[in-house]
Amino acid sequence: MSDRPAILVTGGAGFIGAHVCKALAAAGYRPVVYDNLSTGHAANVRWGPSVFADVRDRATLSDTILRHDIAAVLHFAASAYVGESVKDPLKYHDNNIGGMIGLLDACRQTGLRRVVLSSSCATYGHAGPGPIVESTPQVPINPYGFTKLACERMLLDHVAAHGMQPAILRYFNATGADPAGELGEAHSPETHLIPLALLAASRRGPPLAVFGTDYDTPDGSCIRDYIHVDDLARAHVLALGHLMQGGGPLTLNLGSGRGVSVLQVLDAIARVTRRVVPFRTQPRRAGDPATLVADPRLAAARLGFVPRFQDIDTIIAHAAPWFGHEVRHAATA
Ligand code: UDP
Repeated sequence: MSDRPAILVTGGAGFIGAHVCKALAAAGYRPVVYDNLSTGHAANVRWGPSVFADVRDRATLSDTILRHDIAAVLHFAASAYVGESVKDPLKYHDNNIGGMIGLLDACRQTGLRRVVLSSSCATYGHAGPGPIVESTPQVPINPYGFTKLACERMLLDHVAAHGMQPAILRYFNATGADPAGELGEAHSPETHLIPLALLAASRRGPPLAVFGTDYDTPDGSCIRDYIHVDDLARAHVLALGHLMQGGGPLTLNLGSGRGVSVLQVLDAIARVTRRVVPFRTQPRRAGDPATLVADPRLAAARLGFVPRFQDIDTIIAHAAPWFGHEVRHAATA
């Protein structure tokens, strides 16, 4: 057993979890991946040991925590597609709320107190056009957002009852890829805007369906706050460091504070790849609010966290090679 603190990373074989494991290892921790491989990839597990099991399996989870002398858990394991959650809510209730029950029970049984919870801007619902602060009312409009809000509340109930140390991190739209090129995004099926648009541009996928151009936004398409996955990973290491030093509870937005519309993403892809994204306009996707943009100031104040990759062209330039593009834009330099 190494003297580096062991950190349990549920969902560590997934897109965000794997980037976080790499950042944890670089920061001197020992990531222990716990993943059922339902959407993650075993090939993403490269920075420590792994247990391939489900978070709802409380006995295996407790055993893993004790066997690896886990100092903190970062909980990513969840179903995370807004559109799918509208069509199949029970899957989300089962995986996400069921998974949280499994995790909290294992924490209680083993005495594990430090929990970093992967939450989402989807908990805010129709928050309006302005930047969203952490005290903005959380009124989710899709089952995915509801399950993430439920997980937040469950964690806070356990904090009150058992004196745990929580960090709730509400991500905006995670995207991009490891700047060193070791990890990228590979969902199956892929549903996210930037990967699908890059696949459409390289003709590896069908023309992009733009879901709605009749929103109350300047160009009529939805506005999101895209945060580079490498920045997101760094924010997790900072939040973990805060808890390891005995810091108090955190609830933080993780976003860049800049809103980019779907049509602006397509323009950025054309600039970066020199390929036009073929698209057709479709009706709105159920469960999508018009605008979600973070006010990122609290994360800056509490953790000193400021995203390094601020502009959308750079974020796309890092993602593009994973989807068949040779990137010539200066942003990759
Ligand atoms: N979107 C789109 N076409 C797609 C996928 C997504 O127009 O094929 C839009 C979606 O309606 C939303 C934005 O792109 O406004 C980001 O969606 P994504 O699924 O990437 O992330 P989410 O915001 O759901 O977490």
